[in-house]
Amino acid sequence: MEGSKKKRKRYGGAAQGNRRPLDGSHEEPMPLPNPMVGFNLPNDRLRSVTRRLPQQAIGPPFFYYENVALAPKGVWATISRFLYDIEPEFVDSKHLCAAARKRGYIHNLPIENRFPLLPLPPKTIFEAFPHYKKWWPSWDPRRQLNCLQTSMSSAKLTERIQCALASSGNPPPKSVQKYVMDECRKWNLVWVGKNKVAHLEPDEVEYLLGFPRDHTRGVGKTERFKSLGNSFQVDTVAYHLSVLKDMYPNGVNVLSLFTGIGGGEVALHRLGIHMRTVVSVEIGEVNRRILRGWWDQTQTGTLIEIADVKSLTDDRIATFVRRFGGFDLVIGGSPCNNLAGSNRHHRDGLEGEQSALFYHYFRIVDAVKSAMGRM
Ligand code: SAH
Repeated sequence: MEGSKKKRKRYGGAAQGNRRPLDGSHEEPMPLPNPMVGFNLPNDRLRSVTRRLPQQAIGPPFFYYENVALAPKGVWATISRFLYDIEPEFVDSKHLCAAARKRGYIHNLPIENRFPLLPLPPKTIFEAFPHYKKWWPSWDPRRQLNCLQTSMSSAKLTERIQCALASSGNPPPKSVQKYVMDECRKWNLVWVGKNKVAHLEPDEVEYLLGFPRDHTRGVGKTERFKSLGNSFQVDTVAYHLSVLKDMYPNGVNVLSLFTGIGGGEVALHRLGIHMRTVVSVEIGEVNRRILRGWWDQTQTGTLIEIADVKSLTDDRIATFVRRFGGFDLVIGGSPCNNLAGSNRHHRDGLEGEQSALFYHYFRIVDAVKSAMGRM
């Protein structure tokens, strides 16, 4: 790709020396921190990291990139090398809300003086949904949910579980408990009746992810799960973006790539950061409609929607930069379809058809940087 060639030329030196094949197959895996708490968490004054960004990483613009933490070997090292050698911040959202979501973030935002969205979201299943307590068996130890996925369990599975429990004693034998718990963990099933489990409803997933109620309402259930499963956890992202609030009292111009249902926009809105302009790039027609619906109800700024990152050429970027006086934030998480753990079939790393769209993220950030440098 054009962008990656350019980058190779521009950032020689150390970055050049480290560069290996783009599929990263010869890389050492980037060690994931345990606990996965990022550079800091709300109300955790003891364990705060300071960092110095590499010179070429410093904005403008600020940028914020997200992808799944558990990517195949070498992927994060490659992403980091392209994004100006910035060290990723790995965070599991279970430290901020009631569901796990292990993600890596590469950004050049300050990390001091962050603040969380209020009200703080529930941190446990029972805080989020007290009515499930009634049917929760003592042998189900879960207090938080696993990662909210893009698909839901089948009605058949619920039925199988119900049968298995109905035909065993109370408590059921260890083998049955294990079977049920494995499925409950895998599919995030909750207890809604005697021996009866069910998947979460889309509005419950919206709530756990920090979206307003009915944000994705009006499109099919399958579509809603898909879009929600791919989206940001709003409280987590808002915590990282909160530093922008004091910096931009008059609002921000945002270039939003792979916008999905607008997790980044919702985070900025909930932080009280005015969006003067958002240029949003999202290929899904349904997602664009969801964003437009929310925007028209809540925002006074300008929203420009573009379908494909491939059609956002460097020339078009330069025109936008001139028109809006530059972008303050370039935000986005490129598709993880070829990276995520559950997708064993097409897990071909960063060079997979979808995952390679990361290189457009890099190309576009770099083009914004260049265009703003010429301003
Ligand atoms: N962060 C977003 C979701 C990111 S998931 C949120 O909060 O909702 C990745 C998104 O990239 C998906 O919505 C997918 O439809 C979109 N996408 C895939 N290919 C694309 C392309 N070529 N151009 C723009 N968007 C694309």
